[in-house]
Parts: sequence; structure tokens; C-alpha cells
Amino acid sequence: MTRKILVTSALPYANGAIHLGHLVEYIQTDIWVRFQKMRGHACHYVCADDTHGTPIMLRAEKEGIAPEQLIARVWQEHYDDFAAFHVAFDNYGSTNSDETREFAQSIYRTLKTNGLIEVRSIEQFYDPVKNLFLPDRFIKGECPKCHAKDQYGDNCEACGAAYAPTELINPYSAVSGAKPELRNSDHYFFKLSAESCQQFLRQWTKSGSLQPEAANKMQEWLGAEGENKLTDWDISRDAPYFGFEIPDAPGKYFYVWLDAPVGYMGSFKQLCASRGLDFDDYWRPDSKAELYHFIGKDILYFHALFWPAMLQHAGFRTPTKLFAHGFLTVNGTKMSKSRGTFITAASYLKRLDPEWLRYYYAAKLNGSMEDIDLSLDDFIAKVNSDLIGKYVNIASRCAGFISKRFAGKLGAVDASATAEFETAYQADEIALSFENRDYGRALREIMRLADVANLYIAEHKPWEMAKQGDRETDLHTVCSTALTLFRDLTLYLKPVLPKLAEQVEAFLNIPDLTWTDDWSPLAAGHTINEYRHLMTRIDPKQVEAMVDENRQSLEPAPAPAPARHAEHQQHTIAPIAETISIDDFSKVDLRVARIANAEHVEGAEKLLKLTLDIGEAKPRQVFAGIKSAYDPATLVGRLTVMVANLAPRKMKFGLSEGMVLAASGDAPGLFILSPDSGAQPGMKVK
Ligand SMILES: [Zn+2]
Repeated sequence: MTRKILVTSALPYANGAIHLGHLVEYIQTDIWVRFQKMRGHACHYVCADDTHGTPIMLRAEKEGIAPEQLIARVWQEHYDDFAAFHVAFDNYGSTNSDETREFAQSIYRTLKTNGLIEVRSIEQFYDPVKNLFLPDRFIKGECPKCHAKDQYGDNCEACGAAYAPTELINPYSAVSGAKPELRNSDHYFFKLSAESCQQFLRQWTKSGSLQPEAANKMQEWLGAEGENKLTDWDISRDAPYFGFEIPDAPGKYFYVWLDAPVGYMGSFKQLCASRGLDFDDYWRPDSKAELYHFIGKDILYFHALFWPAMLQHAGFRTPTKLFAHGFLTVNGTKMSKSRGTFITAASYLKRLDPEWLRYYYAAKLNGSMEDIDLSLDDFIAKVNSDLIGKYVNIASRCAGFISKRFAGKLGAVDASATAEFETAYQADEIALSFENRDYGRALREIMRLADVANLYIAEHKPWEMAKQGDRETDLHTVCSTALTLFRDLTLYLKPVLPKLAEQVEAFLNIPDLTWTDDWSPLAAGHTINEYRHLMTRIDPKQVEAMVDENRQSLEPAPAPAPARHAEHQQHTIAPIAETISIDDFSKVDLRVARIANAEHVEGAEKLLKLTLDIGEAKPRQVFAGIKSAYDPATLVGRLTVMVANLAPRKMKFGLSEGMVLAASGDAPGLFILSPDSGAQPGMKVK
């Protein structure tokens, strides 16, 4: 039976580059969609850039361009990155589209008619300099719990506490630095606490639409039967805001999280127009089509509560299932800019083959919400041993004989070998693993099968047959059999490695591989094309170079490398100073400092004015002679080390209340120190 399936990935936000963390989701989704298409189902994969909200508005303003220009540029970057990783959307749209606007407005109107919209006046922080209401992430101040400085308005990164922005001590606007004022404004709420929403969500949670871990989370959010733990959802923001205006509410805009999932519908509507599909067939309440959302576990709240409740009460169908996944770690820890493991799609693509990453992610994914780890050593080992050692080698060892000895024509196939291959395990098992998004299991099965094929080759040794004059027929059979097995492996790997499979189809001179029940071997007399190298091994140096580059992109431009190198070799180091006691050393109070601000000083040739936060009530002002080496903008937010008990010094430009540490030598270049990640402002260095 042909299934009708609509699949989405979460919409990437239009203010940053795609990185390897994002790609876990898009690669996971793309593999599933390709599998469904190979099975012959009508499967459609749509996504879009998520384009609205204050961050987009402010970033465009900072760049001196219109938000529309910013989102058009980022859209193209995202689109190119996805295409390079062979993520094949059927439509990649933008939430800033007429289709999404119309759906957002009509959903809102229906919810309003159904009594699920309420207007309430709320008190909110307002930036009197920029004349705008501040989102929580744009308000900073001292944590009311642990008193850490410069924490965001919604939660504290130092102690993890969550709070309202109004609880912050000495709040300030992260946009202008001004002290925000509390002002009243009318906001529009979606009444998630309404009885009908509660009841619907309780029933929906039990309907099998969620993974077990997600269903548990939902139970927590919903509370026990009879308990009403859900609160209404604030869906409006005040002008100025980049987004869609709420109907009949001038100056009020839909909060970006309202129209983001509606973007799935907008993007699909565009696909319907271009492919002649019937939108309602997929979205009406009694639709028989399947709807799946692939999401990260961090946005489960939006997709498991707000989204289905909105759809249910606005006259649309609800998702068949949500497929949530975990986060990506690299080498066992959070992606880190200072370690060079915050890797963008673009920087990966400069040196590495996208299908290596697709294969590695697939090997790690099992359909659960667990985090997955990209261990770079394991990545190299796995790709080289599985893809090259086990799979590509089958073709590279046998194809040459067919071309050179048999004019490219295949011979008879050893039926007992292919039968053994078939019984080694069931194609259905692999299909089931793909269907369940347990790609790790599918790949383990496929590699086990590759072992069977390699064993067959090792037992028959075609390279020895080729040296014996009288075994031409055997040689022909063994190589033809091996290539049939290689064709089968390629079919199984095709959802994961679409480009490679395409090359194999061309090499074997066969039509596009689809997931059929017909496993007849490649026919005797069929002509294949000459074998060309399919894939290379990963050279660990390529991975090292990528990590180095990502690490260096954070550092100030150093003096040209060759010059530094030469200097290093010619000079001995400056003499070590006189020995001191530990007591002498401990007189110096060294602290980890966060550079809260850095700016040029008018009239100063060498100095930058730094504002250093070491956790004190008032940040320190320090003048540092590092202007030649650093653009102040690149310093803001960085951690460094300062001498905190140096006597304040009155300088021409003001008081300097300490000193930052920087390395320098005979060669040009100045290098301020950075603590390893995890260090917090105020920590002692000793
Ligand atoms: Zn705190």
C-alpha cells in the first residue's frame, strides 16, 4: 500500500550558520525520507528558514540592512549547506511568506472564535533608549539566587536558576546598556489552560504520538488528572517587531514561536502549488496521510503542547508522531569554540566528504532522545574500516578483472553464494530498522552482510585465479557474484549515502535502485562501466586541520606564520628572571575576568579600554596596550586573566584598575591569555 507521508525538520533560525549540531536532525530526517521514497511511498519533505523576531530585527539593524535582506542572505547560506550535505527537501521555504502569514492569521482567527484567545495587560521591561520591549534574552543583570553578574533574564548560566526578568538585580538592556523601565502593555494569550486543551493533550499524550521519554515529559508538564499545571501562552509582541501583524490588533505581532511551526504548513502549501498536491488531503482533521515532525528535544514543549493544541482547535489534523532526538557532543563534551569543535557545515565541507558524516551520524542514531557523540577518532576509524575497508573494497577488488579480462561484461552468478547472502539475514529486518529510525542497527546488519561478501572473495581469491591460465570462468563468476552482492549492499546504504549510490548505479550501469522484493542477480552478459575510485579514506590530518581552523578563527590575526617560525628557530628565549618564593608569587592575585566591553580610546595609539568583570559589584576599568593585536569587537565576551590587586594607576585617559596578562616576544604579535572553557569570572588563578 502506498502511504502518503509529510515530513518536516525543525526550522533553522535565520541568524546563524548551520553547524554539525544542526545536521544531526537534517541528516536523520533526510535518511528517513529517502528510505520512504525508495519504498515507493508518496513522501514529501518540507522545511523553511525561521525568520522572525527581535534578534533578526536587531541584527539587521546592526548590519545596516533591512531584515528582508538579512533573511534572504541567510536563507541562501542555509540552503547551500543543506544541499551540500545531500539533504533533499522537496520544498525549502521561509516563514516570511504569504502562505505562512495566511495560515497564521486564519489559525488565530479560528482560535479567537473558539474563545481561546484572551487579551491581558502585562508588565514588561522596556528599553527607553531603543524604544522597544525587551525579550528575556535581551535583559541581563545579577542572578537573584547566586548573585552571578551578567545573567540573562530567563535563567542563570552560573547556578541554573530560572526566574522572571523582573527578579534580576540591577537589570540592564543588553541592546543599549540602559536601565530598563517596567511598562504595561496588552498581550494576546492562547488559553492553553482551558479545559478543552487540557483534555485534548492528555488524550493525545496517550495516543502513541510520542516516544516514551517524551510522553513522560508531557505527563510531568500536564500533571496528574484533575491538576491544571498548564499556563496560557503569550503569543504577541509589541512593535517594533519583525514578523506578522495580528489581525485587528495594530502594533501587535505574532510571537516568532507562533508562526514557526505554521511555517511547515506554508512550505507545504508552496509544494502543493508546484506539484499539484491537495493540501487538505494532508491537513484536514480526518486526513489519512501521515504527518511527522523531526525535532530536537529542546523544542519538545512547543511541538508537543502548543502546536497540537493549536491545530486541534483551529480545525486541522494533529501530527501522527513527533520524533525527538538528543544533542550532539563532540569528543564527549559540548561543542566548544575554544577547542575548535564548534564546527560549521561550511568549514567541514572545505576538507571532508559530507557522506562520511552522514554515515557516522547514521551509525550513532537509534531513534531515541539520547545525545549522540561525534568522537573524531572514532569517526575516522569507523568510516575507514566500514565504508572503505568493508564496502568499497568489494568493488575495487573485483571490477578491474571484469573490465580488463571480460570487456566489461558480467558472467554467471554463483547462486549458492547469493543465496547464502540472502539468508544471512532478512532485507525486511533492515527495512524495519530504517522505519524505526534505528539506523545504527540497520548499519550493523549491513556491515555484517558486507563481511559475508568479503569472506566469499577471500575464500575464492580472484587475484590468484587471474594468475592461473585455466580459471577464466571461475574468475568471471566470482567477480560477477561479488558485484551483485555489492549492488545489494549499495541498495541498503542508499538512504544514507545517496551520492555514492548514484556513482555505483552509473558504474554498474543499472537503473536507480529502489527497495523492491526482486533480488535477481545482475544478468550474465550485462555490461558495466569502468570502475573509478568511489570514495577515499579519511586522512586524520584533514580532521586536525579542520579543528585547528575552527579554533584559530577565534583568535586575532597573528603575524604571518612563516616569519614567526623563522624567528622562533633563530632566537633563544629571554633569560628567566630571578627565583622567587611561593609567598612572593601568592602576593599576586590573579583572577579570571570576563571582558564585558572593549573599546578604542580616542587619542590613544596603543591602548584599548577594557571593562573587566571578575564578579564584583562594579566591573573594573583597565587600559591595556593591545590595540595593535585586537579588534575590540572580537574581545567582548571573552574570558581572560587579570592581576586584580595591582595598585590603581591614573593614566591620561582615566583610572586603570588592574592589568590583563598577554604574551609577547621578539617577533611581532601580542596574545592575551584565555582560561580553558568552564572557568568562571572571579575564579582565582594560582
Ligand atoms: Zn545564579
